Amino acid sequence: MPIRLKPISRRDFLRRSLIACLGGALAPRLFAATRRTDADSWALLADTHVAADLATVSREVNMAANLRAVVADVLALSRKPAGAFIVGDLAFSKGEAGDYQSALGLVAPLRADGVPLTLALGNHDDRQNFFDAITSSERAATPVQDRQVALIRGERANWLVLDSLEKTLQTPGLLGESQLDWLTKTLDANKRKPAVVLVHHNPGQAGNIAGLKDTEALLGILRPRKQVKAWIFGHTHAWGCRQDESGLHLVNLPPVAYAFKAGNPSGWIHATLTSRAMKLELRCVDQSHPQHGEKVELKWRK
Ligand SMILES: [Zn+2]
Repeated sequence: MPIRLKPISRRDFLRRSLIACLGGALAPRLFAATRRTDADSWALLADTHVAADLATVSREVNMAANLRAVVADVLALSRKPAGAFIVGDLAFSKGEAGDYQSALGLVAPLRADGVPLTLALGNHDDRQNFFDAITSSERAATPVQDRQVALIRGERANWLVLDSLEKTLQTPGLLGESQLDWLTKTLDANKRKPAVVLVHHNPGQAGNIAGLKDTEALLGILRPRKQVKAWIFGHTHAWGCRQDESGLHLVNLPPVAYAFKAGNPSGWIHATLTSRAMKLELRCVDQSHPQHGEKVELKWRK
């Protein structure tokens, strides 16, 4: 499975926060009355690109400040989400060990608030450094050798987290045969509940493969299995939704860090599940951005 970070104690949180020097501002919120959990509410994040040095700025964006703002926004929801995901590219550029220490410090308030967090790998991550940054109790045997996959069972949907990191710093991604086999088996064993698939890489286009190299193989598995409702990805740093001819939703998460195109929003997606759809709300880091609060309803295909 990918890294599934369990909630941490407040004492442990304070210890980590002191290390990361960022606990003060968020601590009062944590010690407020405990929020109730909304089983249908999920926080979707991607492309945090946090550097070891929290002051690092890239494309005029301080990535640590963006992640800190997003974490505060998730904590400000009136009801606690059932879980949060970061869909790859946690690290700044090449997955250095210090990047993960900083990123873990920044997300610690979420964990201290009791929100389980699942992390997936992207092309700017390093699998070994990623593992080394967490304690052994947070690692578990993976059903796919050398890859990190997970099935997170939500009340109204199963979330399948895949690992498309083929080689650090190489732009395209690859799932590979054994992971696709696991996905097929897992979907076939869980037909009754809607399924949402999370992969860092976007659908690749023939002739211009910057996204997922085995896109056709993945779609060949997802399209006929009608319980699969959406493929959610990051990687392109550009928020947007579309639907393919089979009715499968393709959701491109906004980057928590910088957008590649000036003016595009940075932020996260607040997803709320119903029995027949998933409602998405774009939450921008810059809450004066014209798209902040934009809502999209993804109706489930039959
Ligand atoms: Zn990225």
